[in-house]
Amino acid sequence: MKRLEALYEGKAKILYATDDPDRLVQYFKDDASAFNGIKKGTIVDKGVINNQFSTRIFRFLEENGVATHFVDHLSDREMLVKNLKIIPVEVVLRNVAAGSLTKRLGIKEGQPLDPPILEFYYKDDELGDPMINESHVAAFGWATAQQVETLKALGRKVNHLLIDFFKSRKILLVDFKLEFGVDKDGQVLLGDEISPDGCRLWHWDTHEKMDKDRFRFGLGSVEEKYQEVYHMVCGDP
Ligand code: UDP
Repeated sequence: MKRLEALYEGKAKILYATDDPDRLVQYFKDDASAFNGIKKGTIVDKGVINNQFSTRIFRFLEENGVATHFVDHLSDREMLVKNLKIIPVEVVLRNVAAGSLTKRLGIKEGQPLDPPILEFYYKDDELGDPMINESHVAAFGWATAQQVETLKALGRKVNHLLIDFFKSRKILLVDFKLEFGVDKDGQVLLGDEISPDGCRLWHWDTHEKMDKDRFRFGLGSVEEKYQEVYHMVCGDP
């Protein structure tokens, strides 16, 4: 497998073409951003951690019947993935109130949400990823009605699986964001990454934040907490 030219560079990752049109290399950077790119910085070795972390989660989800774009862990910062046509809809699952939900609805952080809340956001950096609902998705043709049902079903399934996965590692899964895409056969697959960048992860006993909120809100010990949560999830390498 040969890595070729960069096709797309985002805030935290670069996607490279390969000599196989159905395969891309997903490269994980240390760059961090928050508040729609207003705050920028570096979290040392975040790329290595997020690659390992995502690899562990994608393997677990595949073992439990969730189809993902993950193919192989190539190196510290490189993951081989299937080439997907990304659906421009971010799926957010919430088990405990935090982040934008608390601000928008005046809910106290930490309130359990039962049943979990599923939300859609339109993936558009310039617009700041606005919240949408499924009629926007249908009206603007971002996904078919059937694909929307799949996004909801897969979102809920991933949430159920990950709640227990993290709980057994003494981590509370507060909320997280998923992205999906369509492969060459028309199947909807889970894409992107699953890491402390896109999940709120609290220590089960203390509710200490062990995710990107440490960077967002300048809570300190950012690298240390990424390392700690990585070891809780992946064990010592
Ligand atoms: N999230 C993300 N990318 C985004 C927006 C949200 O990964 O562009 C994740 C975020 O890390 C959190 C969850 O989705 O785990 C819910 O985020 P929220 O809507 O509370 O927004 P935030 O407070 O992060 O702006």
